[in-house]
Amino acid sequence: NAQLLFNQIPKGEPTAETFKYNTENTIDLEQKLDNGAHIVKIICVSLDPYMRGRMRPAEVKSYSPAFDLHKPLTGHGVGVVIRAAADSQYKVGDHVYGMVPYQQFVFFPGQQKVDAETKKFLGASAGGLMVIKNEEGLPWSAYIGAAGMPGKTAFMAWKEIADAKKGEVAFISAGSGPVGQMAIQLAKADGLKVISSAGSDEKVAYLKELGADVAFNYKTEDAKKIFAEHGPIDVNWVNVGGKSFEEELEFMNMHGRLIGGWISGYNGESYGVRNLFQFVAKRLMMRGFIAKYSDDFYATIPNKLAFGDLKFKECKYDGLESAPKAFLEMLAGKQSGGFGKVFIQVASD
Ligand code: NDP
Repeated sequence: NAQLLFNQIPKGEPTAETFKYNTENTIDLEQKLDNGAHIVKIICVSLDPYMRGRMRPAEVKSYSPAFDLHKPLTGHGVGVVIRAAADSQYKVGDHVYGMVPYQQFVFFPGQQKVDAETKKFLGASAGGLMVIKNEEGLPWSAYIGAAGMPGKTAFMAWKEIADAKKGEVAFISAGSGPVGQMAIQLAKADGLKVISSAGSDEKVAYLKELGADVAFNYKTEDAKKIFAEHGPIDVNWVNVGGKSFEEELEFMNMHGRLIGGWISGYNGESYGVRNLFQFVAKRLMMRGFIAKYSDDFYATIPNKLAFGDLKFKECKYDGLESAPKAFLEMLAGKQSGGFGKVFIQVASD
C-alpha cells in the first residue's frame, strides 16, 4: 500500500527530502468490516499551493492543520469504495471525494475520528466523504480541480467578494492555475474586462483562449505598463501577492475589491508591502476566503465543465512516487507535464 509520507519540515523551498515514498505499508483488503467501515481505492489526489503551509511544526497554528511528520500527507482526493460493511453509509462502487491520506488504499472506520483542528478547517464536510454521481461524465480528476476545491474557491469568492459590475476591470494573477482559470471565465461571464498574467508564453496563450482580454508573461513584460494602459483595476484576484501586489495597489481603482491568496510568500518570509495606505486613499476592501461545501456550485459548475461552457486544463503526474517532483514543479510554475491543475493519478478507475 504505497504512501507519500511527510518526511521533513522544509526550510524555505521544499525539496525531495520533504517527502518519502513508502512502499512498506500494508493493508489487509480482505479484513472483516463492521461498524460502518469501508475501504477506498484512491484514484487521484490533488497537489495545491496551500499544502506548503501545512509543512510546518505542529505547534505553529494556522487555518489548516499541520501535516504529521512521518505520516501520509493528506488532502483532497477521489476514490472508489471497493469494500463496505453491511451497515456502511457507502456501497461498493461509490465514487467519493474528500480529505484522504495520500496512499493507494485507505481503511475508513465507520465513525471517522477527526481532530478539532481538521474539523474547523473542513467545516460541515469533516469526517465524511461525499459521493460523486458524476452524471456529467467528467474525468474523476476534475472533482479535485475545476469541480473541486480550487474551482469552488473561485466560484464562491467571486460571488461573495468580487461585487463585480459589467464593464469593470478584473486582474487575475497566476491565471493558468485552477483558481485563475475559473476566475477568468467567471469574470468574463459577468461582462468584465479581464487582465491576467502567468509565467510562460504558452500559459499566456491559454489565458487568451479562456477569454482574457489582456494576457501577459510577468517574467518578460512590465506589469505596470500593462496596468497603466488597461487599468485601473476594480477587482484584483490576488493569487500571487508580495512585490507584484505592491505594484497592483498603485493601479487599483477607487472602491476596488481584492480577493486574497499569496503564493509568492509560501516558501518563507513574505515581501513587506510598503504602500498599504492605498487601502485608505482608495477605500479598498480585501477579504480572505476559505471555500466550503456549496450546493449551488455542484448544481451548476460540473455541468458547465462537461458541456464545455467552462474550460479547464489539468496537468497529470502518474503514481504517488511522482508527487515530490510534481509538487515542487507546481509551486515553481515549471510543470514538466504541461500546466493547469496539478494532480497525481494514483490508479485507474
Ligand atoms: P496555481 O497552480 O495557480 O499556483 C501555482 C502557480 O503560481 C505556479 O505554477 C506559478 O505559475 C505561480 N507562482 C508561484 N510562485 C509565484 C511567484 N512568486 N510569482 C508569480 N507567480 C508564482 O494554484 P491555485 O490555482 O490552486 O491557487 C492560486 C492561489 O489561490 C494561491 O495563492 C492559493 O494559495 C490560493 N488558494 C486559496 C484558497 C482558499 O481557500 N483561500 C484555495 C485554493 C487556492 P506561473 O508559471 O504563472 O508563475
